[in-house]
Amino acid sequence: MEKILISACLLGEPVRYDGVSKPVAHPMIHEWQRQGRLVPFCPETAGGLPIPRPPAEICGGGGTDVLADAARVVTRGADVTAPFLMGARAALALAGEKGICFALLKERSPSCGSNRIYDGHFTGTLIPGMGVTTALLRRHGISVFSENEIDDLAKRIK
Ligand code: SF4
Repeated sequence: MEKILISACLLGEPVRYDGVSKPVAHPMIHEWQRQGRLVPFCPETAGGLPIPRPPAEICGGGGTDVLADAARVVTRGADVTAPFLMGARAALALAGEKGICFALLKERSPSCGSNRIYDGHFTGTLIPGMGVTTALLRRHGISVFSENEIDDLAKRIK
């Protein structure tokens, strides 16, 4: 049975930068949880960042650019690229350890976003792009879906 790496905040863990969760209500989540498929993980806390923490955005590109050292993850006052990379690598290691090929990650996050992220200017502006963890997972062949694509993920997994 395929396991699914899932953003911990989507399962109700209060690990977001603002200290809350973003639980997603979808019947498949409850079904997958019952089946023991879900592996919750938060890359940012795994990278050593506290709860709560200042909001961060990718400045100068997307997650792929951060991996290429061509963009940085920043808060309004600090460069937090290193913990974001550490968290992404920890997510990849966990996926490898558990043989995970699919991930369900929180859209718009600078770590977990898969289709859209904020533009790096803290103005609430979204741009096409993905977060650092998503970029690393996809680079290694893991299929990443957002909480808006649960039906698509359900069609893909065994
Ligand atoms: Fe949720 Fe991912 Fe942000 Fe952690 S890094 S709080 S799992 S969106």
